[in-house]
Amino acid sequence: MAAQQLAEAGMAVQLYEAQATVGRKFLVAGHGGFNLSNAEEIAAFSERYGQEAGRFAGLLHHFSPNDLRAWAADLGIETFVGSSGRVFPVAAHKPAAVLRAWLGRLRALGVEINTRHRWLGFVGAAGLRMRNEREGAGQEFTLEPEATVLALGGGSWTKTGSDGAWAPLLQNIGVPVVPFAPANCGAELAWSMFVRDKIGRTPLKNIALRVNDGPAIRGEIMLTAYGVEGTPVYALTPQVRAALAGSGPATLHLNLKPDLSPAALLLKLKQPRGKLSFAEFLKKALHLGAPVPTLLREVRADVATLGPEELARLLVAIPLNVTGLRPLEEAISTAGGVAFEAVDEHLMLRQRPGTYVAGEMLDWEAPTGGYLLQGCFSTGAWVAQAIIGSQLARGSSEQ
Ligand SMILES: Cc1cc2nc3c(=O)[nH]c(=O)nc-3n(C[C@H](O)[C@H](O)[C@H](O)COP(=O)(O)OP(=O)(O)OC[C@H]3O[C@@H](n4cnc5c(N)ncnc54)[C@H](O)[C@@H]3O)c2cc1C
Repeated sequence: MAAQQLAEAGMAVQLYEAQATVGRKFLVAGHGGFNLSNAEEIAAFSERYGQEAGRFAGLLHHFSPNDLRAWAADLGIETFVGSSGRVFPVAAHKPAAVLRAWLGRLRALGVEINTRHRWLGFVGAAGLRMRNEREGAGQEFTLEPEATVLALGGGSWTKTGSDGAWAPLLQNIGVPVVPFAPANCGAELAWSMFVRDKIGRTPLKNIALRVNDGPAIRGEIMLTAYGVEGTPVYALTPQVRAALAGSGPATLHLNLKPDLSPAALLLKLKQPRGKLSFAEFLKKALHLGAPVPTLLREVRADVATLGPEELARLLVAIPLNVTGLRPLEEAISTAGGVAFEAVDEHLMLRQRPGTYVAGEMLDWEAPTGGYLLQGCFSTGAWVAQAIIGSQLARGSSEQ
């Protein structure tokens, strides 16, 4: 995004990518739902960035979800807003086609795209140490651009090229980098062998999930051999991480009937059970089939003997004790990265004037649903604006 906007402003832009092709994680995102953005209002949208909400409000005003849709339309990519508010390209536009259209535009603007070129660190006051890895052991050379944008990604899905190997290169010049942590990832639970074998991968739809006493997130989760995953689990990763780091327990509370009032739930559970087994009764009274009875027995061995009041309390707050988060490699995104204190209001490194940072390599996190790519695009547009401004200022001072 930064490359495009700088080229549109008439600047000569060279893009360097360590992998053999660019945009590998963009393509992975495309296969996993491809939410380019979200139609939420900017005030609510910015809240998704947690403690960086204020900063992102400014970034999103500068390059908004509507600007992103207009950008896509300009590439010939029609988008639509799904029922969840997520913004998708219409089905005809496969991820590879979107990327192809975008790269075509960059080339038409004169952006020089150099793949298999790795940035190795800084040299002197303005230089970049680079390695051309196209042949054999590679050839090192130095670049001295007027401005540099680093957009090297987070540390998950390393096969896409986002390996986080840039962290020490920045720390070497005194830039604080917050340690990476998995974001938008599954939570591990200490399932018994029985549950692990019996449940497999099973979805639970229309549920609500919260961490300890925190706010509940609605949606669908997947029970897996290691624990739970799915949009509500991902959205709760910051709270789970904080709870795991604290002294108390990290407990997910699962509500299987968030649409029923406590009174209505109790009424259904007070129906006579007759000769029905516990599993048959749950199915008949509440449409809760497998794997719910197994799950309930896992957390409460005597569940079948509970009275209606106690069972009602359990069904809306099944405690799932989290033992850890899934590894960074598997995570959809990365928390941590270049600390915001290391950059000024233009996202320029204080340690290295003329070098800007954009995208996931900055220390922010947001849930899935289009907030990640929008955050990357908005930071890219922001640094482009800053560079254009600084070049104009330089031009006028030289006249
Ligand atoms: C499975 C999955 C699904 C996702 N789905 C969505 C979704 O639907 N919606 C959404 O908003 N987000 C989604 N995301 C997240 C989104 O893809 C990322 O947040 C986004 O791609 C980050 O963009 P970036 O430009 O900051 O970094 P990246 O896309 O990671 O790009 C960084 C690039 O820098 C290159 N690089 C790294 N180091 C060097 C170096 N030293 N020299 C040269 N090049 C280097 C890498 O090879 C890489 O190509 C998903 C992610 C995953 C893994």
